Amino acid sequence: MVEKSFRISPETINKIIKDFHSEMSAGLSGRKSSLAMIPTFASMPTGSETGRFIALDLGGTNFRILEITLGGRGRISIPAQHRFRLKTRDITGTQKQLFGFIAASLKRFMLANKIGAGEKILLGFTFSFPVRQTNISNGILLSWNKGFSAKNTVGKDVVQLVNKALKRKGLHNIKIAALINDTIGTLVTKRYSDPGCDLGVILGTGTNAAYPEKKMGEMAINIEWGNFNRLPRTIYDRKMDATTPNPGRQTLEKMVSGMYLGELARLIFSDMTNKKILKPWEFTTTHLSLAESDISRRLGGIARLLKGLGAPSLTYADRLLMKRICGMVSARSAQISAAAIVAVILRIDPGLKRGHTVAIDGSLFEKWPKYRSHIKSSLVAILKEKARKISLALTQDGSGKGAAVVAATASNS
Ligand code: ADP
Ligand code: MG
Repeated sequence: MVEKSFRISPETINKIIKDFHSEMSAGLSGRKSSLAMIPTFASMPTGSETGRFIALDLGGTNFRILEITLGGRGRISIPAQHRFRLKTRDITGTQKQLFGFIAASLKRFMLANKIGAGEKILLGFTFSFPVRQTNISNGILLSWNKGFSAKNTVGKDVVQLVNKALKRKGLHNIKIAALINDTIGTLVTKRYSDPGCDLGVILGTGTNAAYPEKKMGEMAINIEWGNFNRLPRTIYDRKMDATTPNPGRQTLEKMVSGMYLGELARLIFSDMTNKKILKPWEFTTTHLSLAESDISRRLGGIARLLKGLGAPSLTYADRLLMKRICGMVSARSAQISAAAIVAVILRIDPGLKRGHTVAIDGSLFEKWPKYRSHIKSSLVAILKEKARKISLALTQDGSGKGAAVVAATASNS
């Protein structure tokens, strides 16, 4: 019964792709849509851009600063990088504290790596929070998330805030040439060496994607696909959604990404067995992937995993059920990711006349081999032999490298 409700038929997949297309069109033309389709003002690199850049990456667990050189012919290197621990007081204090911390870290980084105060330096800023942009080098913060809450910042242009902080620290030679997010970074990083790349996808804690829109002069569009909502939900999806801080939002993300899959499996298991052996949200997607790939004869891997969580190791039959639940949750996630990928590629190239590289970053794709093969088999199920036209490429550190690539394209044009 439950397994059936988690299997999406080929007809439904085709309907999802069609609906995805109409939501994309609606979003692009400013009509009501679950897809925001945000213009990012980032254009595509040719691969021949060169130069030395600094990239800032804010929006994950750490704040990073990277020195990046673009060598032309698609080569990107990182001569120096440093991670700065974000302290709660820096990210939840005043605006001055947060941006002062960014500027002070940059000053330290430049001194430590002998990056001159005399030369003019172009900087790319990956800022993975919702912003509204009117050009490539501005961005009004719409809201904070991920534990950030620096006061007096929402509604302000974060590029200006960094600039002001740099001036206060006496850093006058730095020009912020581009503001991007991690999906744009992933897209342009791969595109720099592969002109056939026209989709960047994040499959990690959350999920999102970006692609160059022909109707807008190949400008990168941030789809915000995590919010796509024309999907068949089960009672478990609804049950989990109700316990999140943003019920009714991010429907696709909640069926696909790492933040949610483990909890979804836990809910199904406790409902089917009436065994409440795990606390809400403690069964993560990493646990789910381990359980799904346990091939030991008596499922000893699952027993050990449960023990590690302080739970009873269950009967063999229950462990088998848990494995099946994890398998169906992850297969559905990959099926939906594949449908979204196909939808965007078909918008770009309806007849699939040429090859397309999809740049993907995030632990679901990187650290979970079975997930990758689920996506591949879903692509084949949807496109048959034409699935060969789509290649999936792990693209790491787009949030670092991509900022430099966009800074280079923005300053060269
Ligand atoms: P972020 O999206 O924050 O940059 P990641 O790309 O590392 O971070 O994704 C983190 C998510 O990936 C978490 O939800 C975690 O549970 C999940 N995850 C990490 N490792 C694995 C794994 N080996 N298998 C499945 N999921 C994993
Ligand atoms: Mg990431």
